[in-house]
Amino acid sequence: MSEIEIVDVHTTISERYIRDPALFTPEKLSDIFSECRHKIRLSSTDARIEAGEIPVESVKQLAEAIRPHRQITGWIAVNPHFLEQGLEAIELAVKTHGMKCVGEMIQYMENWETDEYKVLPFVKLSGDLGVPISFHAGAWSHVEGVIHLAESFPRTNFIMAHFGGRAWNTAWRLLKDSGIRNIWGEINLKEPTNKKILADSQERISAIIDALGIERVVFGTDSCVEDAKYNYGNWLLDTLESMKLSDRDIERICGLNAREVMGLDPL
Ligand SMILES: [Zn+2]
Repeated sequence: MSEIEIVDVHTTISERYIRDPALFTPEKLSDIFSECRHKIRLSSTDARIEAGEIPVESVKQLAEAIRPHRQITGWIAVNPHFLEQGLEAIELAVKTHGMKCVGEMIQYMENWETDEYKVLPFVKLSGDLGVPISFHAGAWSHVEGVIHLAESFPRTNFIMAHFGGRAWNTAWRLLKDSGIRNIWGEINLKEPTNKKILADSQERISAIIDALGIERVVFGTDSCVEDAKYNYGNWLLDTLESMKLSDRDIERICGLNAREVMGLDPL
């Protein structure tokens, strides 16, 4: 399994590199990935909290920062309170810069409801352009909101970031047997340093598979790319290898599903 490709659908590029892309060299990225026992690709957005308020500028700066890195695909930060600029940013990012995802739609920071009217144009445009839209889902109300949107916009693909967080049981219960085909559930993990952590991760991963099917499980870390070594992929492999999964299922969870929903070729 050493050559397996992991796709992390949920990362940010640090403000330092967004502001000064010359610092973000291929050597720097190689160092960050130096402990990975797998191939790795990231879907990354601008880490700045204000990115969604200046989305066009953010897309241009992010594109510049990630341009030397085949292993990084751009992810467009938008804020529903800045509608026109956000729609323009998505068009620019997808059509000109080949970015592959919109989000994370972070309602807790930006003070709107998951499925309120302000977000609808972003959901529709994501579907029209064929890129998934990621929604923060850390509580049951977020889970319900994402499901409501997914049912209302069947042509848009949704990534349910965190798969409900502590409300993962709710997400599992609401999605299981729902017949919904356009939600992908994101696995978040802790380092499996003891049996309790490992068992918790196994239970959550099994719930996501049971709720959505093996084809719609993706991996995300909510991590910021700056200097720290990237070890999350090793944690994922350790966890998946401890479960009774086929090699094909492991490949799906690690990266194949993410590549399919974002339309990425293998590295
Ligand atoms: Zn989140």
